Amino acid sequence: MSSLIDPFARSIDYLRVSVTDRCDFRCVYCMSENMSFLPKKELLTLEELDRLCSTFVKLGVKKLRITGGEPLVRRGIMTFFESMSRHLETGDLQELTLTTNGSQLEKYADQLYATGVRRVNVSLDTLDPDKFAEITRWGRLPQVLRGVEAATNAGLRVKINAVALKNFNDVELFDLVGWCADQDLDLTFIEVMPMGDLGNEDRLDQYWSLKNLRANLEERFTVNDLTERTGGPARYIRVEETGQKIGLITPLTHNFCESCNRVRITCTGEIFTCLGQEGSSDLREPLRAFPDNDLHLENAIRAAIALKPKGHDFDYSRQQADGQMSRHMSHTGG
Ligand code: SAM
Ligand code: SF4
Repeated sequence: MSSLIDPFARSIDYLRVSVTDRCDFRCVYCMSENMSFLPKKELLTLEELDRLCSTFVKLGVKKLRITGGEPLVRRGIMTFFESMSRHLETGDLQELTLTTNGSQLEKYADQLYATGVRRVNVSLDTLDPDKFAEITRWGRLPQVLRGVEAATNAGLRVKINAVALKNFNDVELFDLVGWCADQDLDLTFIEVMPMGDLGNEDRLDQYWSLKNLRANLEERFTVNDLTERTGGPARYIRVEETGQKIGLITPLTHNFCESCNRVRITCTGEIFTCLGQEGSSDLREPLRAFPDNDLHLENAIRAAIALKPKGHDFDYSRQQADGQMSRHMSHTGG
């Protein structure tokens, strides 16, 4: 079986799948307060998700990241993880992982470890309980901190993902870095992207470039660039005094598209081959129309990959959020 290669000779071996559009938080940069969610029949069932992911594994996907919305609020999601673990056992899949807000980790950390998950990304922008409630609207910090602790106790390697927000967590930079060092957690900062329905002006006000974040770190630490890349938008720096490796995801200030190895699937089975472009194809139709024959699905996947664009068009440089996407991050799963 030939692997998935796009028109720019990029090998696609990383799949991110959103398993729900729902969430128990309402982060301001991701969702509006009153979201309307999809009716259940629109969503891929857990069995359809299994078939879809397994087909991608058959076509050469080695790394699978489950996301959302909040993946751990999808009912029955543990049966999906249990089922996916068979691909880890055969070695066809090298990594099964998830991105979560952490709210349900206290409940599920041990089960996740048992299914073969070894790393989780937990999104956490602030260690201040009031600010946490402000940015997530519905979230509560102690619950997430208990989730992080449960995950590390279960043997999961935890990476904290923090969205860099000016006039919000910029004042906490050294607290966040220090906390992650103390707890032996990996840390990645993400530049806020022009997604969702907040106005452009709000987003520009919040935009804290990671170039500036790096410069702020250098006020206290010796910071060196690392050459390692993982095929995604993250670059890494080392804080020499603490030995920490910190990831910087800078979709807006650095073009990372040339090494892009990933595609995304929404909870309705749409495939997005570029986070920053509107173009998508429907995989639910071939899934549902041919329940016993994967050939149509495989052809639809190959056809979608053949349309993967060269890169995205996000650009803040002209002081307006060009290339702004109308869809929410919770739709494509980040
Ligand atoms: N609910 C899970 C979580 O929060 O980790 C998974 C889904 S969430 C959409 C995935 C990631 O996208 C989170 O780390 C979140 O901070 C990030 N995100 C959401 N909206 C964003 C935006 N406008 N710009 C940058 N990152 C964003
Ligand atoms: Fe939910 Fe994650 Fe979006 Fe926050 S970033 S609203 S936790 S999906």
